[in-house]
Amino acid sequence: MSLDARVVDKNGGHGHAVVIGSGLAGLTAARALANLMDRVTVIERDWLPRGPGRRRGVPQARHTHTLTTTAHTGLERLFPGIRHDLVRAGAVRVRVPADLLTLGPAGWLPRFDTGLSRFSAGRDLIDAVVRDRVRADPKVTFLTDHEVVALQPGPQDTVAGVWVRARERRSPDGFAPRRLMSAEYVVDASGRGSRVPEWLAALGYEPPRETVSATATTHATTLYAPPVGHVADFEGLLLMPAPGDPRRAVLSPVEGGRWSVTLSAGDGSAPPTDHTRLLAAADTLRDPLLRDLIANATPLGPVYTCRTRSSRRHYEQLRRFPDQLLVVGDALATLDPAHGHGMTLAVECALVLDQMLTAHGTAVGISHRLRRALAHRVGPAWRSATGPLDPPHGLRARLGSRYGSRLAVAATTDRQAATELLTAHETLAPPAARALWAALRPRGEAAVPPPPTATHGPDARRRRPVAPTAPAIGVATGSVRPQPTGSSAHWPAVTPAGERRRP
Ligand SMILES: Cc1cc2nc3c(=O)[nH]c(=O)nc-3n(C[C@H](O)[C@H](O)[C@H](O)COP(=O)(O)OP(=O)(O)OC[C@H]3O[C@@H](n4cnc5c(N)ncnc54)[C@H](O)[C@@H]3O)c2cc1C
Repeated sequence: MSLDARVVDKNGGHGHAVVIGSGLAGLTAARALANLMDRVTVIERDWLPRGPGRRRGVPQARHTHTLTTTAHTGLERLFPGIRHDLVRAGAVRVRVPADLLTLGPAGWLPRFDTGLSRFSAGRDLIDAVVRDRVRADPKVTFLTDHEVVALQPGPQDTVAGVWVRARERRSPDGFAPRRLMSAEYVVDASGRGSRVPEWLAALGYEPPRETVSATATTHATTLYAPPVGHVADFEGLLLMPAPGDPRRAVLSPVEGGRWSVTLSAGDGSAPPTDHTRLLAAADTLRDPLLRDLIANATPLGPVYTCRTRSSRRHYEQLRRFPDQLLVVGDALATLDPAHGHGMTLAVECALVLDQMLTAHGTAVGISHRLRRALAHRVGPAWRSATGPLDPPHGLRARLGSRYGSRLAVAATTDRQAATELLTAHETLAPPAARALWAALRPRGEAAVPPPPTATHGPDARRRRPVAPTAPAIGVATGSVRPQPTGSSAHWPAVTPAGERRRP
């Protein structure tokens, strides 16, 4: 392919679009663009594996990734049948909360079918399944081992392409000289390290205002093989943060019958860095169930840690911004991963792009509308990711916080309240009137919430038994521990071997 060749638009077509980055935001944006543009080139600085392989550009792939209800529903709209492909590749569909034991902010939620579900799999597998679908599109070409280094300005505040350089081992700086790739539309999906603000500044544009959360979240993740003989009537486990305890823990089933376990702390405290510390940290969570599960499981790799901050670039506020350029996914807003909405946002950006291109029948002259539409879509996810970190100010915020607490308590005994609590999290929808009613309606004495059915014993309903003849592991309790008090560093020192803390 000639990189310098300008797309000739003889047939009144829409020309060539370039997507920077082949993460989930780039792949889904390419899909949306292919509906309108004549051809799409996805430029990726990594070499891309066939199938689910690890790569440098997505280091977060080592951590637990799940597709929320909104994310997989949106993916299905973009790629009909993709949920089937995901399951065939090994992803696990987890009904929320029927298959996901969920410790809400005020206690265990009842287990029943809400219609909500997650797809749980390694991030490499999710990307690979989506990538295969994009690769099958004859309009889309991948240009791998190429890095975009600048934007090419066009006439009258437009972008006319990008400058790219190929990786070249023999050259002193590791790259070949840069070349121009012309395009009628450019989408930046290069993730949290996006350099579009600098590139805009180099062209004389004002860079966007950026909001960054004050607090960092830390994460520690490892993969496990379930205990030999493990049987349970649930697929995964979610411990949500609670007032006074910003920790979150998740156990997600992933391909190959393994568990991906992540412990996160919303107060930025140092994450556990090895298996002993991870187990000790799990032992101080609000409930001992996760600890009981992983104590008998076999670690399959090291403990990976990372520290993240939510950040958002307000492109919608810029008065002057080049047309035919759009920023999506993490490059637009990096959300606290503890809430698991990053991929949701990537998919939502692509849906907005698809809708707007279809509605206007052109990619030209709609930049401002697109940026505003994306900002509107980012809003709920941003508030959900940063809300718990900001102490409520003003009457509205205080009422919102009290409503949240009432809903959390009601959710432990009331299915409607539980549905609303989970729907808000899974779909980022604003609370419906019925949620308000579920939270506020007077109720009699609350029933004692049932413990989660962690059945590892003889009563277990068998599901994917690993080795039926082997001994079963101990029965986990459903008690909720008293919350830790007064400490901002929520992960403990290592507990001496053999010593187990119980309330
Ligand atoms: C610990 C952790 C856990 C998470 N868990 C979840 C979860 O459970 N659910 C969820 O929805 N989200 C989760 N996320 C968030 C999710 O990983 C991101 O939101 C998602 O990866 C964003 O996709 P993206 O395509 O915007 O960016 P990325 O996936 O980061 O992709 C960017 C791509 O651009 C390429 N690139 C960068 N610069 C250039 C360049 N100059 N030229 C060419 N290519 C370039 C990179 O190589 C990369 O391939 C988690 C994140 C973390 C850190």
